[in-house]
Amino acid sequence: MTIKTRFAPSPTGYLHIGSLRTVLYNYLYAKQKWGKFMLRVEDTDRTRLVEDSIDNMLKILEKFGMTPDEGPNKDWGNGPYIQSERLEIYHKYIKELIEKDKAYYCFCTPERLTELREEQQTLKLPTKYDGHCRFLSEEEIKEKLDAKIPYTVRLKVPKDEIVEFVDAVKWKISIPSKDVDDQVLLKTDGFPTYHFAVVVDDYLMKVTDIIRWDEWIPSTPKHVLIYRAFGWEIPNISHIPPLIWANKKKLSKRDWDVAVEQYLEKGYLIEAIINYLALLGWNPKTTEEFFSMSELIERFDLEAVHKAGAFFDVERLDFFNAHYLKNTEIWELYEKFKNYLREYDNDFLEKISNYSDEYNKKILSELSTKIKKFGEYKEITTYFYWEYSFPTDDLILNPKMKLENREDVEKALNISLDILENEKFKSIDDLKNLFIVKIKEAEMKNGQVLWPTRCALSWEKFSPWAFEMIFILWKEESISRIKQYLKKKQL
Ligand code: GLU
Repeated sequence: MTIKTRFAPSPTGYLHIGSLRTVLYNYLYAKQKWGKFMLRVEDTDRTRLVEDSIDNMLKILEKFGMTPDEGPNKDWGNGPYIQSERLEIYHKYIKELIEKDKAYYCFCTPERLTELREEQQTLKLPTKYDGHCRFLSEEEIKEKLDAKIPYTVRLKVPKDEIVEFVDAVKWKISIPSKDVDDQVLLKTDGFPTYHFAVVVDDYLMKVTDIIRWDEWIPSTPKHVLIYRAFGWEIPNISHIPPLIWANKKKLSKRDWDVAVEQYLEKGYLIEAIINYLALLGWNPKTTEEFFSMSELIERFDLEAVHKAGAFFDVERLDFFNAHYLKNTEIWELYEKFKNYLREYDNDFLEKISNYSDEYNKKILSELSTKIKKFGEYKEITTYFYWEYSFPTDDLILNPKMKLENREDVEKALNISLDILENEKFKSIDDLKNLFIVKIKEAEMKNGQVLWPTRCALSWEKFSPWAFEMIFILWKEESISRIKQYLKKKQL
């Protein structure tokens, strides 16, 4: 049998970073077993709908290299894959359960149900439906249906069974069925509940393995009972731990901080996010930390996923991102960077397009170890792309380095000019050697020359060192900047 996993989100507007991990685990599990990964959209809660969610979701999954093999994007004969387009199917299966006497019409009004719940709460009893409509006669039902009284359909939960399941993550549940509510399967608006639709769809769409957040554990016995009512085989259901912010708050589904889009916008690399998420909850049982997608497919083990919540720590994500920034070939990194700008900062892309690829790549390669993510890049490259700006006296004068006045600075900069105009160099090391010799000859200290040089070249408080600046800007531009500075000072 072909293994099939699925991701079944409600289209509530954005993709939660925790849901992306759910996608990842489902994807890895399916791919490892040469199976299929499917997307199904669960939009039966009509109050939470957000337009464009599905397209958005598909775009993100594609970016992460996890395009569903089957789903709204690709029908493999099990569609439609959007629940609101499957109402007829649900009605057919509701009818089947009613005919089998496994489900019943419930005509209780919302007022009665509220009263019932309040009463149970006062008596400190579990809040459950009391079975009021469970035993209506056929005539009574017909009468109410003819009178068009709004109804729901509820599962006729057997009273004498034990509902049990053990999952791959080692959750073991066993509860008497009498403790399970006669849950609503079909709502008054004709839409199925999540519980009913999820079971019908997973069955009809031939899902073999369900991997979802452990917040669904309390729902699983309900699902087991629906499978049993139909006489269907129950797929493997596994529950993975929640993500917890480093401050211990569970990552809420409606909190924008947790949107995957946020991380893309900040400029984290796909590989870094995948690698980090994979390890949030799964123990690879090795000291290695860096895994590519294909390595993850090979090594992922659902049984090595733990139960305890996993801390989501942005600093750890930064650490993974730094690793990938440092270890990606420069041509590839440059392509990724341009793609990033194309999406999030087209103006800056246009700006850098006025310079040669060689120049841009040199900067990226020098700076990729100094930034944590692409989003920080623009701010620290102003001096490579913006028109020359003069460093302030406050910045360039530095009494500790014996740079007390204009003459000191001029003297230092003339040493740099001399090297740039008269010496040959090919690398940062060449530059270093030349400067060391000349500075020594002038009986000065390294900082005394290098500090004003780097300030004259970059005019910012923080920038790469003088040698790196020269190496990137190269001869002409470095000479021109130093001269501009010296000229201004003479005015
Ligand atoms: N629609 C549910 C959700 O939004 C899916 C739960 C499941 O995977 O069964 O999380």
